[in-house]
Amino acid sequence: MKFWRSSTSIRNRFAFGMGAMLLPLILLGIGTFVSLEGVLNRFEEKENETLEALFPITELEALIVKASTSADDYFSHGTPADRDRFLLMSREVDKTFITILNTPTDTPEKTALLLVAQKAWQQAKTSGEVIFTNPHLRKDVSAVREKKHLDTCIKKAVETLDRLQELLTHLQIFDNIAQAQAAKLWVKGIVVVVFGLGLAVAAIASLILARSVLLPLQILETGVKRLSEEDLSYRIVLSSQDELGQLAITFNHMAEKLEQSQIALRNLATLDGLTGVFNRREFNQKLKTEIERSHRYTHPCSLIMLDIDYFKKLNDTHGHQGGDEALKIVASIIKREIRPIDTVARYGGEEFAVILPETVSDSAAIIAERLRHAVATAAIAISPQLSINVTVSVGHATFPSDAILEEKLLAAADRALYAAKHSGRNRVVSDSSLQASSDYKSQLHGQNPPTRVKNLDRP
Ligand code: GH3
Ligand code: MG
Ligand code: MG
Repeated sequence: MKFWRSSTSIRNRFAFGMGAMLLPLILLGIGTFVSLEGVLNRFEEKENETLEALFPITELEALIVKASTSADDYFSHGTPADRDRFLLMSREVDKTFITILNTPTDTPEKTALLLVAQKAWQQAKTSGEVIFTNPHLRKDVSAVREKKHLDTCIKKAVETLDRLQELLTHLQIFDNIAQAQAAKLWVKGIVVVVFGLGLAVAAIASLILARSVLLPLQILETGVKRLSEEDLSYRIVLSSQDELGQLAITFNHMAEKLEQSQIALRNLATLDGLTGVFNRREFNQKLKTEIERSHRYTHPCSLIMLDIDYFKKLNDTHGHQGGDEALKIVASIIKREIRPIDTVARYGGEEFAVILPETVSDSAAIIAERLRHAVATAAIAISPQLSINVTVSVGHATFPSDAILEEKLLAAADRALYAAKHSGRNRVVSDSSLQASSDYKSQLHGQNPPTRVKNLDRP
């Protein structure tokens, strides 16, 4: 499930996340408020119910007491008004008993006590009626006895109603305690559920938020680390189009520029500006590496040196620009004719060197001849209108048969090259053939060592 588009800004995502994290508190507040309100309302209802149940009984008790007072007054003074008031109250008491007894109740004890009180009242009323029909009231013993009986019955009715009130109050207290316990459980449940839900929502929201920010940050961090380790080809892949996505684009742009600058710098430092083949410094480095490798694995490695014949004359005839063109074309011919594992470099002005790894002397001779032939037979287009022919003299030497140290190998190939010059140019000479020839040996041991012969047989 996606909560936001990949272009949604991190600021908006954080606002959403903070909102989601505040959610448990808001929900908890609402939940607590609602549940407390419900509980308090329930308590209020219960209290009202109790009051409603108690009120008629209190009223009834008051009526009975009033009736009893009227009976007392009548018994003391014999005033007919008191008697009438008793009779009026009696009717009220009867009606109230009937009303209360007709009210549905789930408490059988209440009905039982009411019936007891009603019976006591009925007996009191009967005694009252006997008293009212007696004209000699206080002198008559039976009237006094009746009055006592009336008082006893009234007392019993009032006491029974008191017990009933007590019972109702107790019942209410128990009910309230049960209600409070249920309310406590209910509030606890609500708090736990609401808080749990809120926490779950907040946890999910913060997880999603963290993932949407931390993952891209991790990817960016990897990119920066790789860049600091000089891996300029590394590019950050981020699908989001937010601030981090923009950062990734800027980073990639920067890495691209750095990589291009590095390539340009490396080319400047390692390649020859005119011909595009390696320069002499890079050649020296590669030769060193190759000889070390050949040493380690005891593999052969050959070195070819080529020099364009009569190049000074070419410059003189066709100008420096023509000479430059010829140099470029000869370099490209050499590059074309060698294997991918071989290395060609511009060693000097019109001199090239080729390193042939894993190559014995005989194979080097074949390659050298191939190079010589390719140059000699190529039409060198030094301008759109003019193609000329040039030749190269080639010398080669092999590690370890001709020399073991790299500078000795260079000297050997150079020696062979100048032997090729010396013997007429446009030819290939190997150092091993030089060493074999007695002429060479005599030159080597005698007083006439081979030298770089200048412009012999120059046409
Ligand atoms: P050889 O057959 O004995 O090698 O004779 P050469 O004329 O080729 O040799 P020399 O050493 O006498 O002349 C080399 C010339 O190459 C001299 C120099 O002006 C020219 N040269 C060196 N570098 C460049 C370059 O970059 N461009 C051009 N056009 N000429 C160059
Ligand atoms: Mg030359
Ligand atoms: Mg030269």
